[in-house]
Amino acid sequence: LFRDYISGFPKETDMILSTTGTIGLKVPEGSNSVLLKNLYLSCDPYMRLRMTQSATYNPNFVPGSPITGYVVSEVLDSGNSNYQKGDYVWGFAGWEQYSLIENPVPSSLRKISYTDVPLSYYTGILGMPGLTAYVGFNKLASPKKGESVYVSSAFGAVGQLVGQFAKMMGCYVVGSAGSKEKVDLLKNKFGLDDAFNYKEEPDLTAALKRYFPKGIDIYFENVGGKMLEAVLPNMAPHGRISVCGMISQYNLEQPDGVPDLSHLIMKCVRMEGFNVSYHYHLYPEFMEVMKQYFMDEKLVYVEDTVEGLESAPAALIGLFTGRNIGKQVIKVSHE
Ligand code: NDP
Repeated sequence: LFRDYISGFPKETDMILSTTGTIGLKVPEGSNSVLLKNLYLSCDPYMRLRMTQSATYNPNFVPGSPITGYVVSEVLDSGNSNYQKGDYVWGFAGWEQYSLIENPVPSSLRKISYTDVPLSYYTGILGMPGLTAYVGFNKLASPKKGESVYVSSAFGAVGQLVGQFAKMMGCYVVGSAGSKEKVDLLKNKFGLDDAFNYKEEPDLTAALKRYFPKGIDIYFENVGGKMLEAVLPNMAPHGRISVCGMISQYNLEQPDGVPDLSHLIMKCVRMEGFNVSYHYHLYPEFMEVMKQYFMDEKLVYVEDTVEGLESAPAALIGLFTGRNIGKQVIKVSHE
C-alpha cells in the first residue's frame, strides 16, 4: 500500500506490505469484472511523480490504497465476454497478488496473443516502455541513416530499445549510463558505437564534445537537468531532441535551473516532449515491427527481476540510484 504523500527521495517505508485476507477466487455473480492473478509488476520512474499530491502526469496514488502500475497477469475468472479464464493480459492494476478489475475496457487490459517471448517482456520491451522508445525515437525524432544519436539512461527499459532502433537505422550511437558494468554491456552486448559513465565525467559538455565532434543530430532525453544543459551546446544544426523523461528532476523540490535554450535558436533545433499515453493507437503497428525483429533475432533485452511483493519497495526506489541493471521487474507469482 502507499503510505502517504512524500517530498524528496522515496524510501522503502513509504510503502507498506499488507495482508487483507483472502478474496474468493471467483468474480462476483453477475458482474462484468475480471479477476487477475498478477505475475509480473513493472517498476517505472513516473510512479515517483504519483507519490506527490500535486501529481500532474498521472493521477496520484491514494494513501492507504494499493500502489498501481503496469502488470502482466493471468485471468483466473471473468464475467466479461472480452476475457476468458486462462488468458494472459497486460495493463493497469494494483501492486497485489490478485486484482479484481471492474468493468475493464479492452484498451486498459490488453490480451497477450504473441507468446514466443517471456511474458515479463510485456512490462518492458513489448509494453509501455517499448512503445515509448518506438514513438519517441522512430516517430518523433525523424531519424536518418548516418546521423549521430545520443541516448541518456541508455541501459534502462526505454534506453535499451532506443539504442537498438538507432543502430538498426544505421546511425552512430553513443549511450550513457551510471556504472562500468552498464557501459560495458552497452558497448559489447548492445553494439553501441560508444558508451560512457556519466558519473565519472567531471565535465559532461566536454565529454559529449569528444564523442560528437560534429555535433548530436538526435538526443533522446531521459535524464534532464545537468545532462540537458551539457547536451544543448553540443547539438548539431537542425538537430532534434525527443524529450521522453527527466528522471534527475523527479525527487527535487525545486527543479534544476533551466539551461540556456538559445542554442535551440542558433542551431534550429527542434525539441519536443511526448507522453506515450497519447500514442497507443500505434501499439498494433509497434507489435508487428517488434515481432519481425524477434523473429529475425535482431533484439537484445536485459531485465532485472526481483521476486516477491516484499521486494517491490526497494526495487522501485532503486530506479533512482541506478540499482537496476536493465528493465526492473517484480515477479509475484509463477505462471
Ligand atoms: P530506467 O529503466 O532507465 O531506470 C531509471 C534509470 O535512470 C536508472 O537505472 C538510472 O540509471 C537512471 N537515473 C536515475 N537517477 C538518475 C539521475 N539523477 N541522473 C541520471 N540518471 C539517473 O527507466 P525507464 O527506461 O523506464 O525510463 C527512462 C525515462 O523515460 C524516465 O525519465 C521516464 O520517466 C521516461 N518515460 C517517459 C515516458 C513518456 O511517455 N514520455 C514513458 C516511459 C518512460 P543509471 O545507472 O544510468 O544512472
